[in-house]
Amino acid sequence: MADVTVQDIASAGVVGAGGAGFPTHVKLSAKADTVLINAAECEPLLHKDKEVLRNYAQPVIDGLLAGMKLVGAARGVIGIKEKYQDVIDSLTPKLPAGVSIAPLRDAYPAGDEFILVYDVLGRVIPPGGIPLHVNAVVMNVETALNVAAAGQKPVTEKFISVAGAVREPMTLRVPVGVTLRQCVQAAGGATTDQPNYVVGGVMMGRLEDDLDALVDKTTGAVLVLPPESIVVRRRRRDWPAMARIGRSACDQCSFCTELCPRYLLGHPIEPHRAMRSLEFNLVGEANVRGTAFCCECNLCSLYACPEDLDPKDVCSRNKRRLAAAGTKWPNPPFNPDRPKLHADNRKAPMRRLIQKLGLHKYHNVGPLRPELLAAAKVGIKLKQHVGAPCEATVKPGQAVKIGDPVGRPPMKDGKPALGAPVHASIDGTVTAIENGVVWIEKK
Ligand code: SF4
Ligand code: SF4
Repeated sequence: MADVTVQDIASAGVVGAGGAGFPTHVKLSAKADTVLINAAECEPLLHKDKEVLRNYAQPVIDGLLAGMKLVGAARGVIGIKEKYQDVIDSLTPKLPAGVSIAPLRDAYPAGDEFILVYDVLGRVIPPGGIPLHVNAVVMNVETALNVAAAGQKPVTEKFISVAGAVREPMTLRVPVGVTLRQCVQAAGGATTDQPNYVVGGVMMGRLEDDLDALVDKTTGAVLVLPPESIVVRRRRRDWPAMARIGRSACDQCSFCTELCPRYLLGHPIEPHRAMRSLEFNLVGEANVRGTAFCCECNLCSLYACPEDLDPKDVCSRNKRRLAAAGTKWPNPPFNPDRPKLHADNRKAPMRRLIQKLGLHKYHNVGPLRPELLAAAKVGIKLKQHVGAPCEATVKPGQAVKIGDPVGRPPMKDGKPALGAPVHASIDGTVTAIENGVVWIEKK
């Protein structure tokens, strides 16, 4: 494989495919001793990363090696759940020197970067930190695949898990810019009369009522669920009512804190204390300031709380309040010994979580359909991920081919702002640029 450069990765528009979409060329411009491939995929019902690893093992390893070379790392590790022994067995003979596999327990959350780095390397990222603070870089499986290809082709495709109440749960390979509706139809359509759509995952994703919402470079899953699903009901509850109930019903049992993965890493977050902000104005106090370190994993609300309250929402709302006020905690207290005491034995087993959420009936293995989903029309969002929205580089009426750039980050102080370009995902003609979307149709 020819050497991939940071510039190749930037031009190809590679961003983190497993989360907020941080531009990968920025991550790989740093120096670290280890690169971790994150195949932990701990959201219930999702199989995309495991399936990509199963079907594209060598390119993923190539992407890992490219990342290791760029950051100067001697060590590469692929973190994948131990239950996927068949994938581990097929990967093992392909591993080059310096690369190993870390089998992970089947628990939630295993794919959070902070948890993965601790589970695999035994290093604790400090509150507000990033993996680089402990000499590591973390890449999602699909991101590594895109890094390996960056010298030859930009990111125009996406893998996506379609699961829940659909006829044929699967992992699809789709052009960026197709609709959720097309993805659900490709999986045989919904099997419930009143489908609700959760994008991203039942724990950390969001409800999406617009079935014509567009798949972008960070969309990892669409899950179809009936209205009576706990996951849907919890998300449709209205905040004033939840705040009122939380104020009177929280008995300060602290189960939410005792199972909070970030608290268990020694970070100064204690959701049971944050619940007190429903009653009192505690902004500025540690109870609320610690919410800045909440990763919004939802474990406290959807698993830990025996009263069916929503400490996660309390934390995330306070977190946003702190961010809006520009409140920072320069030297937050940090207990690096706490993980050794508790982090290993307080994980939420996946089987138990799935049961608690009433998802066991949707059990699936998400086989990958390798053919690219056919699309006659796509909408390429100019804002798909972390960084500045792109500026369109095409005009209506212009013919484009797959891989042509259609938007690029704006210039700031003489250089491109943080971000990544976006590209045409089908051959066709630009028919419109409206509301931040470049529409391309086959003519
Ligand atoms: S687990 Fe629920 S009831 Fe217990 S402290 Fe947390 S929010 Fe309150
Ligand atoms: S969502 Fe809850 S459990 Fe998760 S990090 Fe935030 S406070 Fe902790």
